Amino acid sequence: MREDTTEKRAGQSAAESPSAGTDRQKGSDVLPDIKSMYLEELRSMVREKGLPAFRAKQIYEWIHVRQAASYEEMTNLPARLRAELSAEYPLVTAKLIDRQISAADGTQKYLFEMPDGCLVESVFMRYHFGNSVCISSQVGCRMGCSFCASTLHGLVRSLTASEMLEQIYAIIRQTGEAVSHVVVMGMGEPLDNYDNLLRFIRLLTGPEGLNLSQRSLTVSTCGIVPNIYRLAKEGLHITLALSLHAATDEQRRKIMPIANRYSIEELMKACGAYYRETGRQITFEYSLIRGVNDSSADAQGLTRLAKPLRAHINLIPVNPVRERGYEHPDNAHVQAFKKELENNDVNVSIRRALGKDIEGACGQLRNRYVR
Ligand code: SAH
Repeated sequence: MREDTTEKRAGQSAAESPSAGTDRQKGSDVLPDIKSMYLEELRSMVREKGLPAFRAKQIYEWIHVRQAASYEEMTNLPARLRAELSAEYPLVTAKLIDRQISAADGTQKYLFEMPDGCLVESVFMRYHFGNSVCISSQVGCRMGCSFCASTLHGLVRSLTASEMLEQIYAIIRQTGEAVSHVVVMGMGEPLDNYDNLLRFIRLLTGPEGLNLSQRSLTVSTCGIVPNIYRLAKEGLHITLALSLHAATDEQRRKIMPIANRYSIEELMKACGAYYRETGRQITFEYSLIRGVNDSSADAQGLTRLAKPLRAHINLIPVNPVRERGYEHPDNAHVQAFKKELENNDVNVSIRRALGKDIEGACGQLRNRYVR
């Protein structure tokens, strides 16, 4: 399977968001994307078609509450309407290409194909608090972080709201299990796809749809500062996770190109604004890379950043990516790094390493198919 990639890097135009809207981005035959429509928009569509108003809610529920994969399933709609809708508003569905189940912990890694042939990775994990799905927000990524497999082939395109939802819906259909938590931590930079992300969040957490609690949704960003401020003002109660990975600008620039654009000071101000506006505790993600960012001085620097924000630190022993040659510190060292933060009264956890045996790191499964 081939995809054309367009190499763009964070230094160029990271803050731009691709166009939003509800049209499927599929070459020239742009068809309305019903799965990305808000209930209000569906109501207008139904009105314009001269259909009874209650049809809007029926269709919306089939799509978002029952995760229907085709109009055929919508048995309380007249057959003629089903045929008409399927011609005019084809449902975006994620086609299952590959699924790997970890023998170690049951984590399931999915590779889906979107309607235009793009490949997307998602992960299903079981925790004591419920089932969690990790979704991708873009096909590939243009942020260029040196430890990340998603960015190796650049950005292909951003995902629409429906394509983000569909990763969750397809997993619900596959597993037959409920999903209580969602993290946007798969491939791509969600704040580089702002409008589609917001639409996705509103659809996913809206009371008329799957109605996922906003508190159970985490969006992870490499730190696109203007969009952190924007997100702070949206009136949402989602958790923001910042991929920090270094405590100084100098060090951060070596592993994350976005650090050439925004300083840690600017980032901390933006996180402060987010915390104040939303009252939500921020998470700092910190991938521990042996010999790069795992010293005692790093732990002290991290403490100075986390404390004023009362941020929670999530340590992630780096998932080795063959192409990059990074290794994680040994377990004793990871524990010592954690202990040092704890001694400084910083709230810290080590991310449970799930799915190690199934290429759990973002972008790795897809990279086996895209060459
Ligand atoms: N673009 C977003 C979300 C995607 S990555 C972001 O940067 O936050 C989700 C998290 O996994 C990020 O913290 C990312 O830096 C981290 N990550 C990526 N590759 C990794 C690897 N090989 N090992 C450990 N963490 C990794």
